Amino acid sequence: MAIEEEMVAGEGTAVTAHQTQNDTEAFENKLRPKDFSGYIGQGEVKQNLQVFLTAAQNRGEVLDHTIFYGPPGLGKTTLAMILADSMGTQLRVTSGPALEKPGDLASILSNLQEGDFLFIDEIHRLRMPVEEILYTAMEDFAIDLVIGKGPSARTMRLNVPRFTLVGATTQFSKLSNPLRDRFGHIEKLRFYEDDEIGQIIKRSADILEIEIEAAATQQLAKCCRRTPRIANRLLRRMRDFAEVVHQGSITQAVVEESLKNLSVDAKGLDFADQEYLRTLCDKFKGGPAGLSTLAAAIGEDEATIEEVIEPFLIREGLLQKTPRGRMATEAAFSHLGIIGGGGML
Ligand code: ADP
Repeated sequence: MAIEEEMVAGEGTAVTAHQTQNDTEAFENKLRPKDFSGYIGQGEVKQNLQVFLTAAQNRGEVLDHTIFYGPPGLGKTTLAMILADSMGTQLRVTSGPALEKPGDLASILSNLQEGDFLFIDEIHRLRMPVEEILYTAMEDFAIDLVIGKGPSARTMRLNVPRFTLVGATTQFSKLSNPLRDRFGHIEKLRFYEDDEIGQIIKRSADILEIEIEAAATQQLAKCCRRTPRIANRLLRRMRDFAEVVHQGSITQAVVEESLKNLSVDAKGLDFADQEYLRTLCDKFKGGPAGLSTLAAAIGEDEATIEEVIEPFLIREGLLQKTPRGRMATEAAFSHLGIIGGGGML
């Protein structure tokens, strides 16, 4: 399978930030499972996809358009790559914000080969004129191009190769109905169980040739917010501490000390999560507080709060979204060691 990247880092990115991003991407790619057997957890999704793939292969058809949704880092991109690999075809990667004009998408579509996969990350952020190109492309494998301007403008239909669109989104509800209805398969990715995260840590440690004790793996697994990307990132940091400070393998003591240095707490809440929760509990007495108010209070943008911070806090029973605003639960107060909270729920 060949992967062609459409995404480019923002212009003017500082050299060091650029390098760090590339470094992180290279690291992620190294650890990406290449087939279903290396892809841990998400049993139901995997099972479904394998059935759909076999059915499409047996009929000699392309796989129906598929969308994966769920918080960042749960394995959506990885699944898209595995799908293309399983069908022995090419995967083109782009993202909603990267497609600025209908022509950007039209040119990608017309350059696809029969049976290719097109992966659009953050598909909920497609601009409407671009999204409209997708409707006929997904349904009829054709795009309608407008040629000329004003009264003399005319539409020309151009066929595109049969392809499979794989969309990924962290905000499924933001997809328009016409787009959502054109996906044949809709798969929700779930947060992972601790033992699955433990398996992912072990697998990554083996690939990176890092020694990690079983007890250390278990302990680290509990602090990864049930998210593979975070597990791999923390493993990398543990390796730094083990090599530089402790001259050796990752033990329980290394995990404990490193997590403390990284401000990751026993539930896996990082600095941003803790700041959000503490602000809600302390400043707003547990809420209700509106999203924009909270965003202003902690200096974080609303999308990051909604897509990255809140899903996990809700999943852990620390936060509730109510019609009146965000509210901290009793568990949040006791987790932060604040007395007398959560009475309003
Ligand atoms: P998303 O697209 O949902 O943000 P990715 O597919 O980019 O997430 O996954 C992030 C990282 O986590 C990848 O480097 C991949 O190695 C790892 N990963 C994700 N899901 C799994 C899984 N089920 N098993 C093993 N590793 C995984």
